[in-house]
Amino acid sequence: MASGNLFILAAPSGAGKSSLIKALLERHQDGSMQVSVSHTTRQPRPGEQNGVHYHFVSKAEFEQLIAQNAFFEWAEVFGNYYGTSKQAIADTLQQGIDVFLDIDWQGARQVKKLMPQTATVFIAPPSRDELLRRLQGRGQDSADVIADRMDKARAEISHYHEFDYIVVNDDFATALAEVEALVISHRLQQTKQASRHSRLFAELLKQD
Ligand code: GDP
Ligand code: ADP
Ligand code: 5GP
Repeated sequence: MASGNLFILAAPSGAGKSSLIKALLERHQDGSMQVSVSHTTRQPRPGEQNGVHYHFVSKAEFEQLIAQNAFFEWAEVFGNYYGTSKQAIADTLQQGIDVFLDIDWQGARQVKKLMPQTATVFIAPPSRDELLRRLQGRGQDSADVIADRMDKARAEISHYHEFDYIVVNDDFATALAEVEALVISHRLQQTKQASRHSRLFAELLKQD
């Protein structure tokens, strides 16, 4: 059966993971990759659309989904619940489409335990000063929220060594090329290529 690859991008808020995933998907519009849309209890930012950026739900709705065992993984981040529903990924992976998860380190740990073949990527900012500039420059969070996110950045970053890959997002184009390179090399692993090209190998090995 076809099975897509699962990729996790984690980073402190503002390091650029959403921008990198968006740019990667724009470069690969062949239907081979998708981003998973998470559920969250946080308020939508200006311009964020329900069902596109997140499924925005109330705390009671989220807790009901937890009770229904609907989540593949979930975690509390910055005082809100965030989670990946099983529905968000299962059908897509089964169709052989690669799925990107933009989740925190707690979610990454849960997913890696459930699916050890998941490729996990930590996106680091080039400095703390630059991280603050990006959070401010995004212009979507209040000063209090930004201060809280800078405070929590250290906790997120302290888990960098649990990840398979690390990309420093200094120059955006370089970081994008690096994420793309690891995605492609992950796809080229022997076992995946062997099953994708089983007919080719049967033909190549046929006795004349
Ligand atoms: P942003 O990281 O600044 O774009 O802020 P968000 O409010 O979109 O996300 C806050 C944090 O929650 C980030 O660390 C995300 O990676 C994380 N997050 C988003 N969706 C999920 C999810 O489905 N599961 C988990 N565990 N974390 C998530
Ligand atoms: P995250 O999803 O990790 O919270 P975003 O993708 O929203 O981060 O990026 C945070 C801000 O930083 C956005 O305004 C984005 O345009 C900007 N940004 C992302 N990568 C870079 C980069 N390499 N150089 C400069 N600005 C960047
Ligand atoms: P640190 O690794 O710096 O001790 O932890 C950073 C943050 O993650 C702290 O808020 C800590 O409570 C939390 N944390 C550490 N380990 C775990 C864990 O295994 N599960 C969860 N849910 N949180 C953890």
